[in-house]
Amino acid sequence: MNIARWLEASARLAPGAPALLTGTEVLADYAAFARRASGVAAALDARFGIAPGDRVGIFMANRTEYLEALYGILWAGAAAVPINAKLHPAEAAWILDNAQARACVVAADTAGPLAAAAPGLRLIGADTGEWHGMRATEGSATPAPRGDGDLAWLFYTSGTTGRPKGVMITHGNLIAASLCYPIDVDTVAPSDAAFYAAPMSHGQGLYTFVHTRMGARHVVPPSGGVDPDEILDLAPRIDGISMFAAPTIVRRLVQRARERGLTGEGIKTIVYGGAPMYLADIEEAITVMGPRFVQIYGQGEAPMTISALSRAMVADRAHPRWRERLGSVGVAQSCAEIAIADETGHRLPAGETGEILVRGPQVMAGYWRNPEATDRAIRDGWLWTGDVGRLDADGFLTLTDRSKDVIISGGSNIYPREVEEVLLEHADVAEAAVIGRRHPDWGEEVIAFVVPEPGRALDTGALDRHCLERIARFKRPKAYRVVDALPKNNYGKVLKTALRAEVEGEAGSGPAGG
Ligand code: AMP
Repeated sequence: MNIARWLEASARLAPGAPALLTGTEVLADYAAFARRASGVAAALDARFGIAPGDRVGIFMANRTEYLEALYGILWAGAAAVPINAKLHPAEAAWILDNAQARACVVAADTAGPLAAAAPGLRLIGADTGEWHGMRATEGSATPAPRGDGDLAWLFYTSGTTGRPKGVMITHGNLIAASLCYPIDVDTVAPSDAAFYAAPMSHGQGLYTFVHTRMGARHVVPPSGGVDPDEILDLAPRIDGISMFAAPTIVRRLVQRARERGLTGEGIKTIVYGGAPMYLADIEEAITVMGPRFVQIYGQGEAPMTISALSRAMVADRAHPRWRERLGSVGVAQSCAEIAIADETGHRLPAGETGEILVRGPQVMAGYWRNPEATDRAIRDGWLWTGDVGRLDADGFLTLTDRSKDVIISGGSNIYPREVEEVLLEHADVAEAAVIGRRHPDWGEEVIAFVVPEPGRALDTGALDRHCLERIARFKRPKAYRVVDALPKNNYGKVLKTALRAEVEGEAGSGPAGG
């Protein structure tokens, strides 16, 4: 089924319900939203010859036209290629070329740079009169028929390493992932609002479908991005908002709420994930803002849908294993089967650490035009996530690391996450990232990059004592780099490859084992 049928359904059932908003201003109700999508679809065909199965890029920051474009592309039976607006135009051009996109929807600020980087590509300006003409075109009352296995969304992985790969997400994948949301993440009522601070090109954009099906509001903040003050000010005026936020964004939001003496009124739910949320940060978040948090663990290849830690589990301080569970990524979502395997694929029992495998109707169809990578990632129907973790007897999954992030020193595996958690418990440490550096005797040694809390000086001797009191000697960092900030990608993930590049060529000589 074409997932755009969910928009058609809401337009029939609740035509007058507010659908697209910028801030508090309603720009379209559901009838108008569906009419615009159907008009865009008709114009994509009539003006650009876009047919079912073609790919159409979207390269612009969050705005309501983004949703018109997304649904218009899907309504036409084509597949959307949403590209993070913060990417360099040359990176966007590379993605559009790899996707063999027939056209790309752009905004005033991305049009010029992309035109220069991708000469010959048809650009459709969402700020132009052409867009208004397109969405006013008389279109078909129903979306083009599509099968569950047809491509809907070509998602380029954020690529903390190497060139991004195009993850093929089908209509069936989107439907399965969306159906998990009300079961595993959060209820959605028509009075609720999906709030687009995080990029629509990523997880937040995937949450659009369930909100459309429920006839809820889609609200884009006027800034189109993450501005903690804007979020805190708008939330009570909109009410019932739910939003995805990477841990760094949660941190910024909580810090601002605390400074202003606010609790996040109007925010129903903050779904966090995408990178490790450290215990100290989520505890602080709950203290300041209360039970507004749900964690998800997913990846482009199984979009937002591997595991979830529910609101109750996040907030239930009275539970005897609350902290332990808070440090996990929760339990398998209802569409996901999770297994832990060693390198040979042999399944490991509860308590043992290995690569996380997932199977279910939400798992991607494969990588676009990359059968070798697909065969490596999907074996016997199971997706090999590249993440390392363990399940406990109750099915709670704890991530230890990306498999490539493991540090092996003197034959012992050290999971950076474990060391980072300990460093973050220190009051003077704001952020920490741990990597391995080549060592002549030990293979690798542990190096920590640490960002001090504002106005605090870091005493690395004190940090060393702090670690010695909490973790095995061989795990403690053998050298520290105090930095102002950690390098991060556009989604806020720490670029460990950049940190590794910084220490490459250096060979430590410290007492790595001691
Ligand atoms: P992406 O495909 O860009 O969404 O990145 C997915 C990766 O982010 C996963 O494979 C994990 O390594 C990481 N990730 C996602 N969710 C979480 C989470 N809740 N906690 C820790 N890491 C996460």
